[in-house]
Amino acid sequence: MKVGPMTGFQLSEEHEDFRAVVRDFAEAELAPHVAHWNSLHTLPLDAVKAMAGLGLFGLSGPEEYGGAGDFTSLCIAIEEIGRVDQSLGITLEAAVGLGSSPIARYGNSEQKQRWLPDLLAGHALAGFGLTEPGSGSDAGGMATTARRDGEDWVINGNKQFITNSGTDITSVVTVTARTGRRADGKPEISTLMVPTNTPGFVAEPAYDKLGWHASDTHPLSLTDVRVGDDALLGRVGRGYSQFLATLDDGRIAISALALGCIRTCRDLARDYALERTSFGVPIGRKQAVAFSIADLDAMAHTAHLLVYSAAAMKDADAAPTEVARAASIAKLVTTENAVTATRIATQVFGGYGFMEEYPIARFYRDAKVLEIGEGTSEVQRLLLARGLGLPVE
Ligand SMILES: Cc1cc2nc3c(=O)[nH]c(=O)nc-3n(C[C@H](O)[C@H](O)[C@H](O)COP(=O)(O)OP(=O)(O)OC[C@H]3O[C@@H](n4cnc5c(N)ncnc54)[C@H](O)[C@@H]3O)c2cc1C
Repeated sequence: MKVGPMTGFQLSEEHEDFRAVVRDFAEAELAPHVAHWNSLHTLPLDAVKAMAGLGLFGLSGPEEYGGAGDFTSLCIAIEEIGRVDQSLGITLEAAVGLGSSPIARYGNSEQKQRWLPDLLAGHALAGFGLTEPGSGSDAGGMATTARRDGEDWVINGNKQFITNSGTDITSVVTVTARTGRRADGKPEISTLMVPTNTPGFVAEPAYDKLGWHASDTHPLSLTDVRVGDDALLGRVGRGYSQFLATLDDGRIAISALALGCIRTCRDLARDYALERTSFGVPIGRKQAVAFSIADLDAMAHTAHLLVYSAAAMKDADAAPTEVARAASIAKLVTTENAVTATRIATQVFGGYGFMEEYPIARFYRDAKVLEIGEGTSEVQRLLLARGLGLPVE
């Protein structure tokens, strides 16, 4: 049998041109302000507006509602924004991956017409409320309920750690809730879109977080929140499969954020190792320092391959199980490497790495949550082990 040459994969010229546009924007419009914005511990809506002006919130969204570009473009944008600031990177990732995408994917035409134009334009933000105080990794164990009352749904429960859920421009939060019991005895889970001005919906005060200081995260309480049947996303009982698919895509996008973090670690550490001297020579002359920076380069390259091969699979409509596997591998490897990369880069900076005046301190704080959000490292290992047929619990 004759075996042909591998063609490999490479980002297109258009994708690289797009990357240059986002990179220049991020360096000119965001980078000078990110330290200040993070010090305020609040999402800067001016930054959201600027990112919206570039069309970033419409990436991968349907064209008829103002979207443009593909999933790969979204990953490029998240990587380039995340290279400058992880808080703004996660804001974009969550706004699209968790906010508008489920509506675009599962909404009917009236629902899309109602919500998507503003969301894709970046004039409004949406949240996705899956996690609860008592259920995170075990998301199917949620306690929030939605019961039928005439033509309406009445929702009661609490959601935990919900990104983009409490800003002045948050228009809607999609929540998962138990709507009954299935024939096999398991809870029936459905997804409902709750306009944030609905009585009984409260975004509680924002969390005081270890990192991602310029991102918006709140607990939500829902008390007798009444919404019409037009709030139901897709069909009753489809909530479980909807959130699994939403998280698969989100894992690739989070990996792009981790890639941005690793690249920054590599570049900042290299520049510092060239200029900082000890014992009369640049510290980059010492193998211990130079080799650790070489490791960062290997991590950045690995992350690039994992992110963009998974994104290419998604854009090519590859089999969902294959995309899910690629997403889990990308999430696991890139986010654990991002945490390691921030530790290595901070070490290269010595005492200065611990000081707020150097951006590496912020990246060090911001990286940890990458291993937690949208499925922890352990959950990714669980999914991969199950995919290998192992009877792991
Ligand atoms: C800043 C931030 C933003 C977030 N944004 C959102 C959002 O917008 N929407 C949303 O719905 N959620 C959001 N989350 C929630 C996030 O997805 C959860 O925190 C995450 O899924 C973990 O759930 P948990 O915190 O309840 O931890 P737990 O599930 O309680 O896990 C605790 C520990 O136990 C481990 N563990 C649990 N089960 C197993 C198992 N079966 N095998 C092995 N180990 C296991 C976990 O890996 C972890 O180490 C956000 C979280 C943070 C911190």
